[in-house]
Amino acid sequence: KVNRLFQPLDSVISVRDQSVGGKKLAIMAGPCSVESEEQIITIAEQIKESGASFLRGGAFKPRTSPYSFQGLKEDGLELLKLAREKTGLPIVTELMSAEYVEKFVEDVDVIQIGARNMQNFDLLKEVGKTNIPILLKRGMSATIEELLMAAEYIMSEGNEKVILCERGVRTFEQYTRNTLDLSAIPVIKKLSHLPVIVDPSHAGGLWWLVEPLAKAAIAVGADGLMIEVHNDPANAKCDGQQSITPERFKSLMDTLKAIANIE
Ligand code: PEP
Ligand code: MN
Repeated sequence: KVNRLFQPLDSVISVRDQSVGGKKLAIMAGPCSVESEEQIITIAEQIKESGASFLRGGAFKPRTSPYSFQGLKEDGLELLKLAREKTGLPIVTELMSAEYVEKFVEDVDVIQIGARNMQNFDLLKEVGKTNIPILLKRGMSATIEELLMAAEYIMSEGNEKVILCERGVRTFEQYTRNTLDLSAIPVIKKLSHLPVIVDPSHAGGLWWLVEPLAKAAIAVGADGLMIEVHNDPANAKCDGQQSITPERFKSLMDTLKAIANIE
């Protein structure tokens, strides 16, 4: 089902009044984690003003340490819904356990499957039984073939609304958090009809790398971007070092509007 041989035309995934794939670049932006009402509403309003098309924000967080902030969980989902009500932006948030599938189907617009769960086959099959769009992030040491087969797990259950996301893979390089695999975008586009977006925030792991990596992603044909934006990066509960401020996001969007079709 992922194979372009059987579906030559690019898939376009509709989400409320937005879409991913096709001519317009989809811009998903927001904090790594939802932290408070004030935080998520402020950021949502500012990214909307700058031209973002989706609000991202984690409520259930997959953290390396069990002692790190794990997210606001159900309360985080409520705050995301409030932000959607105020801005109209569709919400994208990560599902970590099949236990919450029904709640997510009810509450969110796009279910994110994180890099760490890319090959959680039971979870993939569960979201495959829903009919809402799934944003599938590439595992940090997954090949392109493995990413496409993970998408196949979702699609084989009936849900063909899959958006792929390149977010960097682990290499010997230590300076950046991951290494953005730019060639993955044209390779995936050759093999599959599914839309592919790029997450320059998790790829580089440093806020000042977001702009150059975002531009590179557009140059190689990405259908969209996922960018971490925080109103107070220095005090963010998660991923502050790679988050840009709403002001920097605005200037990034102004730059991108000159090279891509965003509005
Ligand atoms: C995220 O988007 O906040 C996230 C945890 O990403 P990844 O699964 O790509 O590490
Ligand atoms: Mn993050």
